Amino acid sequence: MTNTSLYGLSIEQIYNTLNLEKKFQAKQIYQWLIKGVTDFNLMSNISKNERERLVNEYKSPISSKVIDTQIDETGATKLAIELHDGSIIESVMLIDKNDRKTACLSSQVGCAMGCKFCRTGTMGLIRNLTSSEIIEQFVHLRKLGNITHIVYMGMGEPLANLAPVLESIRFFHSEDAFYISLRRITISTCGIVSGINKITEQNLNVKLAVSLVSAENPLRSKIMPINDTFNLQQLKKSLLHYQNKGGSRFTLEYCMLSGVNCDLNAAKKLASFTNGLDAVVNLIPWNPAAELPWTTPTTEEINTFTKYLDEFHISYARRYTRGRSVNGACGQLATKNNKKGN
Ligand code: SF4
Repeated sequence: MTNTSLYGLSIEQIYNTLNLEKKFQAKQIYQWLIKGVTDFNLMSNISKNERERLVNEYKSPISSKVIDTQIDETGATKLAIELHDGSIIESVMLIDKNDRKTACLSSQVGCAMGCKFCRTGTMGLIRNLTSSEIIEQFVHLRKLGNITHIVYMGMGEPLANLAPVLESIRFFHSEDAFYISLRRITISTCGIVSGINKITEQNLNVKLAVSLVSAENPLRSKIMPINDTFNLQQLKKSLLHYQNKGGSRFTLEYCMLSGVNCDLNAAKKLASFTNGLDAVVNLIPWNPAAELPWTTPTTEEINTFTKYLDEFHISYARRYTRGRSVNGACGQLATKNNKKGN
């Protein structure tokens, strides 16, 4: 028995991995997998004997399983997914007001970046996910609805696990697989400049979201330790390079923390940082997490801040939280039963 996932493999690789007699059987299995059929027994165009052999020798073509499902009042659905080694990750299906469904995928178990506003950051990094484990999250979520968009905004920093993330993107985009437009795929980063530069060099046409939180180095370093490695000047330089090389319009994610980054001074710094960048600032009121020391801004505080942003002609969008009541909103994902070294 094996836990090897077949997701992400080519037809040729499936043929070799499963020791199949005929190549067309690999194609049939590949097609079942894309349809979301993850039980060999249900692959009805494979002979009964062969199905029995596959179940006996390989058990299942998928290596992870959903162990918990939570749905909030907006329809946002959070899945807890157990991986082959017992690690647990979370993935979320978000639904917007136009019924657009987006898969929010994890790229790591935990995260090493330690952003102070984020629950995942409290876990530390347990391990990277493989491309198959990333793809399988989408397969589980797609059983809930017709998902058209993907964001790498779940647990982990995608640019710290770039190769598997790129492999999964290639698979999602492949015409033979899920055929999702690259423009509907967003990579979200805390600001790993070397990773942004790699995406620019590869001319990858996915969207980019960069978590900013503050446009002032001392404050940003306090909340996002990555700023000590790649400060705001380095970040802006890489974003300008991305922009000049024709990268699609990107967003700056601005997690609003009451009394911390929503005043006139913060708006001024933001105006200076965004000057010359063709970016939209996404205002995201902090999603509460009991163990973290922040407060969500009041509507009045948000309104005052947006008034400042209007005065400085900063392009922004106000985000309304989905998934908050099931701890599935931005920055709220964390699983308890993972241990380092698992
Ligand atoms: S915000 Fe993203 S990069 Fe920062 S700790 Fe959370 S998961 Fe990691």
